[in-house]
Amino acid sequence: MKTYKIAILPGDGIGPEIMREAIKVLKLVEERNDVKFDLMEAAFGGQAYFDHGDAFPEATKKICDEADAIIKGPIGLSHEESKKIPVDMQPERGALLPMRRRYNTFANYRPVSLPKAIAHFSPLKAEIVGEGIDMIMVRELVGGLYFGNKEVGVNADGLRYVKETLEYNEGQISRILREAFKLASRRKKVLHNIHKSNVLKSSVLWNEILDEVHADFPDVKVIHMLVDAAATHLCLNPGQFDVMVMENMFGDILSDQAGGILGSLGLMPSACQGPEKSYYEPSHGSAPDIAGKGIANPYSMIGSVAMMLEMSFGMEKEAQNVWNAMQGVFADGFSTADLSKPGAGVNMISTLEFGDKVVAKLRAMPKVA
Ligand code: NAD
Repeated sequence: MKTYKIAILPGDGIGPEIMREAIKVLKLVEERNDVKFDLMEAAFGGQAYFDHGDAFPEATKKICDEADAIIKGPIGLSHEESKKIPVDMQPERGALLPMRRRYNTFANYRPVSLPKAIAHFSPLKAEIVGEGIDMIMVRELVGGLYFGNKEVGVNADGLRYVKETLEYNEGQISRILREAFKLASRRKKVLHNIHKSNVLKSSVLWNEILDEVHADFPDVKVIHMLVDAAATHLCLNPGQFDVMVMENMFGDILSDQAGGILGSLGLMPSACQGPEKSYYEPSHGSAPDIAGKGIANPYSMIGSVAMMLEMSFGMEKEAQNVWNAMQGVFADGFSTADLSKPGAGVNMISTLEFGDKVVAKLRAMPKVA
């Protein structure tokens, strides 16, 4: 029997609520398969700062270092709460970016998927959604503006100023493009390259390197699209996309828009892969506006577990069962509060009820042989 050590970082806001449901599913997966999960919970994020004076405490680093994979809930505080923490120690700068840097998790995969049976959740017109939405965004995660040098001060004219640097080298660009090409080769052999080369020199270099990497993947067709145009195309014709690749900040913004076309960020899981360690997290934040109400959608968190099962532990079939179980609950006519308005003809269920129904569906499925 295989044993995997998994670091569990519940995070802030809705994090602990959706993590609870994800762990229920993980425990059932353990029960159904010849595998043992050693779960190690640790503090991470805004609450970790209040409790331990550090958003990424040393004890958490140790647990993550030892883990085979990390499951992370969303972190972050409301605008007002954030002000109680020094700027450089706030959750993203004090925990999230250091985690990405520590494990060099350069490849972020964000599936944007809405099968036909649950396509009614999309706010787009039925004729635009068609047979459903199914694409994956590949985002560079440890470079660009978010990781460049930052400088704040007062200039010679006495004006406060800020300077942030967008920096990429060819190694950083080629490794993420290579991952995107590999993925496109396994799927529909079409890669949308999202850039801003009409303005940014970083995109000019990105595109030069893309041409070089493309030579190794001649069977993949590349379609170039400016990032601003891509934002429009996502709304007007999402069916044209299969694999999209982009740098860090473009991916942050476009993938939230992708959550919008599905109907909620609650449908957006993700995987963040490095050369030796990967962590899995919802694409969204800690949703302080709904925290503690029991109405958050745990699909993104449970989906992140499914991605871990597939990508870190090679359990593709059981991961597919988890997806089918979650989508099956929605297809049965249930909805979490984020996806439907009252009176929409669906049965509204809580965070906990969604988790229980997923567990029941998964339990009823044949075990993987
Ligand atoms: P958010 O993603 O937390 O929420 C945006 C909207 O989506 C809100 O209306 C929220 O209620 C809804 N939403 C998000 N996830 C949901 C879910 N699972 N179920 C139902 N509804 C859901 O964005 P925000 O409000 O701008 O940010 C809140 C905090 O999260 C901030 O502190 C921000 O810095 C942080 N953040 C963290 C991460 C991360 O941990 N990777 C990512 C993004 C934002």
